[in-house]
Amino acid sequence: MTEIPFGRFLLPGPTEVHPDVLAAMLRPMIAHRGSEMVQLIEGLEQPLQRMFRTERRVLIGSCAATGFMEMAVRCGIRHRVLALVSGSFGARFAGIAEACGHDVVRLEVPLGETVEPDMLHDALRRSDVDAVSLVHSETSTGALAPLPELAAVVHERDDVLLLVDAVTSLAGSPVETDALNLDFVFTGSQKALALPPGLALGVASERLLARAKTLPGRGAYLDVLAYDDAFAERQPTNTPALSLFFALAEQSRRIERDGGIGAWWTRHDAMRRTVEDWVAGPGGALGYRYLPREGRRSWTVSCLRVPEGRNGRDIVRAVRKAGWILGTGYGPLRESTLRIGHMGDHSVDTVRVALERIEEATG
Ligand SMILES: *Cc1c(COP(=O)(O)O)cnc(C)c1O
Repeated sequence: MTEIPFGRFLLPGPTEVHPDVLAAMLRPMIAHRGSEMVQLIEGLEQPLQRMFRTERRVLIGSCAATGFMEMAVRCGIRHRVLALVSGSFGARFAGIAEACGHDVVRLEVPLGETVEPDMLHDALRRSDVDAVSLVHSETSTGALAPLPELAAVVHERDDVLLLVDAVTSLAGSPVETDALNLDFVFTGSQKALALPPGLALGVASERLLARAKTLPGRGAYLDVLAYDDAFAERQPTNTPALSLFFALAEQSRRIERDGGIGAWWTRHDAMRRTVEDWVAGPGGALGYRYLPREGRRSWTVSCLRVPEGRNGRDIVRAVRKAGWILGTGYGPLRESTLRIGHMGDHSVDTVRVALERIEEATG
């Protein structure tokens, strides 16, 4: 295995982990029921609340982000969910709801597009659901859903909870948990937070906790009420992935040091604009096009159609030979697109060089 120097690994998850964050994981273990653990969780509270833009508790689980997707389903859906599907992760949310025995109504749009507020409005009029699931930044297509507008449509109805996958939006673009009244919103450690994989982080509204109390199928490991009770006491539910907690504490410090979460959003916005400028210039001249339209582009992952007659996987392979790692297209878009994950600790300069590598691999 060849080691690649920092700043060349631009997968849309897992994303590259800064050496200082990796180093934090070398700390020896602590007792997870001792006072050091309480202090560790206490120290995370405010930085995480600032990241999620909430005054509520941020729950941390030792599982993939999909674990908290299942938590949202088990603890947030009574009978029937309207699942917004604009790509693979929206489809996963719907599939988990079905696997947990719920009725699922899918509202599906072509790949690269997003469900728009008027469509959601119509769908909610047509079907009697008690929850809506959506993916904010659909990592498989690079499309960013208009979350504030969609949340407003959901909240026109009483008793319909809004469950949000913010896995590649949170920390890389605004997610206003409290201002938008999100009932459940979650992310994973390995995307814009730029930690190794293995932690899920989420926030539950008072409404969701109240509903969860009435739902018999919450299970145990992913029961939001167990998490809420534990974190009220600054305790983990089970033996947590301690090393990842150490990494999270270090990354929280680094985000605060960089000027806070707002400064992180700004840097991600600048990385997205760098790709947009390239597509408007030399990239476009080579035949690259954005899959999502302007105004609906994720700040953390850019999904580009490759030039006519070219295969995205070949281009990604050629870029890898030059020592840079990009994402191939996902699912049905595997050959026709490539994806640049510009999140976490990456910079505009890194994105610029990655784009040059794409030019060389294409030319
Ligand atoms: C990566 C990703 C997930 C799944 O994360 P895991 O940690 O692999 O479970 C879910 N939703 C989106 C939008 C993602 O990008």
